[in-house]
Amino acid sequence: MKETKRRDFMKQIVGLGVLGIAGAGGIWAAKDFVSTGNKLRPPGAVEEKNFLAMCIKCGQCLQVCPYDAIKLEDVDGKAGVGTAYIAPLERGCYLCEAFPCVLACPTGALDHEANTIEKIHMGVAVVVNESACIALRNEKVTEEMIAPIYEHTAVLTEEERKTHKVVIRDDDPEKVKLQKTLLQRLDKNIGKICTICADMCPYEPDPKQAIGMVAKGGGIVPEIREACVGCGACVELCPTKVLNIIPYAQYSDVYKRSKENDNG
Ligand code: SF4
Ligand code: SF4
Ligand code: SF4
Repeated sequence: MKETKRRDFMKQIVGLGVLGIAGAGGIWAAKDFVSTGNKLRPPGAVEEKNFLAMCIKCGQCLQVCPYDAIKLEDVDGKAGVGTAYIAPLERGCYLCEAFPCVLACPTGALDHEANTIEKIHMGVAVVVNESACIALRNEKVTEEMIAPIYEHTAVLTEEERKTHKVVIRDDDPEKVKLQKTLLQRLDKNIGKICTICADMCPYEPDPKQAIGMVAKGGGIVPEIREACVGCGACVELCPTKVLNIIPYAQYSDVYKRSKENDNG
């Protein structure tokens, strides 16, 4: 994170008394999760203050996003009417290889230098509701649990959405193929102990550097790791909404204190 971004984030979070909570508790719990007030911005977004000035609300980024991950803030939004953002509980970013959203941005609100995964940092994932994690109780994923992802996948036909049967056709546009492939991968989790968040993390080259499953209380739970870029894919795909993203945050901002506690 650029130093200015980090300062902005720290100012807001200190203002909300969040560091005290994180430091005392180590791991974030649902009741402790306090929004920084910032929206999650698309990959490559410059620091929030500049982003609000530079995003001209043209919608170019959302037009090229093959996952329909980007939205424009509506009139009731507090973070700059018309500016581009991602709502990870509805649809995360899947870290497309060439970052077409970044390339499409005409103003540099999405920094054109941010064209590889190493240069992307959107925020960091946090476990906000660990007790809801079905893997903690060794529960298996059911078809009903992943039904909401079918419901909000806009490229499907009504029939595909209803039956949860997607077939990838040769003449499907690339965007449709990508979204159907995502659903097919998700389907493979049905009947298994849930590890969706860790298995579907799009961080390349190695998702295990961003998230992994660790043993806890007779089950397993997700552990967020240093390489997490805050794309929000895990947030969207988790069947019980265990995770969320703190926009602009760095791993060290959120997890340093808990590590200090562990060592102390
Ligand atoms: S990287 Fe891809 S999925 Fe993510 S916001 Fe950009 S275009 Fe959309
Ligand atoms: S753990 Fe992976 S999927 Fe979740 S926000 Fe981080 S990089 Fe994205
Ligand atoms: S996706 Fe991850 S956090 Fe959500 S229930 Fe499954 S294992 Fe738990």
